[in-house]
Amino acid sequence: MTSTTPSAAPGVSLEVRGLHKSYGGRPAVDDLSFVCAPGTVTGFLGPNGAGKSTTLRILTGLARADEGEALVGGEAFRSLSQPARTIGVMLDARALHNGRTGLETLRLTARTVGMPAARADEVLAMVGLEDAGGKRVGGYSYGMRQRLGIGVALIGDPSVLVLDEPANGLDPEGIRWMRRLLRSFADAGGTVLLSSHQLREVEATVDRLVVISQGRLVREGTLEELTAGAGTRVTALDPAALRTALDRHGIAYEHRAGAELEVSLAPEDVGRLALREQLVLTSLGATAGGGLEDAFFTLTGQGEPAAQAPVGPAGATPPVGPVGPAGAQPPAGSAETQPPAAAPSAAPLN
Ligand code: ADP
Repeated sequence: MTSTTPSAAPGVSLEVRGLHKSYGGRPAVDDLSFVCAPGTVTGFLGPNGAGKSTTLRILTGLARADEGEALVGGEAFRSLSQPARTIGVMLDARALHNGRTGLETLRLTARTVGMPAARADEVLAMVGLEDAGGKRVGGYSYGMRQRLGIGVALIGDPSVLVLDEPANGLDPEGIRWMRRLLRSFADAGGTVLLSSHQLREVEATVDRLVVISQGRLVREGTLEELTAGAGTRVTALDPAALRTALDRHGIAYEHRAGAELEVSLAPEDVGRLALREQLVLTSLGATAGGGLEDAFFTLTGQGEPAAQAPVGPAGATPPVGPVGPAGAQPPAGSAETQPPAAAPSAAPLN
């Protein structure tokens, strides 16, 4: 019987240093820095359009940074001698070839990256698709495609996994499965970076979070550190001007009694924003820490569906300038095209 748990070779970190990338003069990633250490599962969180995929594409050699560095074990992806043996990548499971079976997909990937065919059977079991290995991918559910995409990433027995929205389309059992898989990968010394626009999808899976909005780092730390913080209750002499300023910076808030707002920023950041916007504040105070739900609202501006008027992405450091279009897709024919889903990491496009 083959192994059904991933066996990361330990000790390869991921590092992003002062990364910048613009499309058409508009920053998609703006002076971003963070590190993911071996043995950890890092959630890369931010609303749609925040710059997560762009960062992951730069890290995996599919796009070039305008400035800064993205390093895998201290080296740029393009300098790695055996990329697929070092870093497994899943960027878009939707683009897997529909006409191939799951097993054929894995065997082809194994051959491409120089692994024995038996590795495909091993990985098929790891991702829980033994019974669907002979079925065409076109007949797979979205969750099964996600599993297969993760399988493609695991084929080279890498030390690092980079997964773009892996929890998308997974049911609760699928999310539990992913948590176990990634946990055992990290416990074996592997490094995992996975993106999500939903804290709730990944909160049980990750140890640390790197939160971005509009291409910039908002917060970074362990789940505990990030969920300990809370928001701010604030009133202004001109409440409409305060709301307008918050809207303009894409900062989430909820209405409270009177003209009071609960804002998804620390009090000092609300104070800074008021200074910059020349607003007179009439009250300002931290709200009590409220656990994950509040942190979710605070970090991404995406509260409970019932929450009142949550708007836009939020950040501890309010970005200056217009808010980008959430979820905007790159224009067709742009210089750098989207990668094929779950492409073997050995085959960067540009
Ligand atoms: P996320 O993954 O967080 O949803 P993206 O990295 O996909 O965010 O996008 C960040 C910003 O960069 C968005 O405004 C998006 O429209 C833009 N963008 C991403 N890729 C391209 C591209 N190839 N061409 C032009 N604009 C792009």
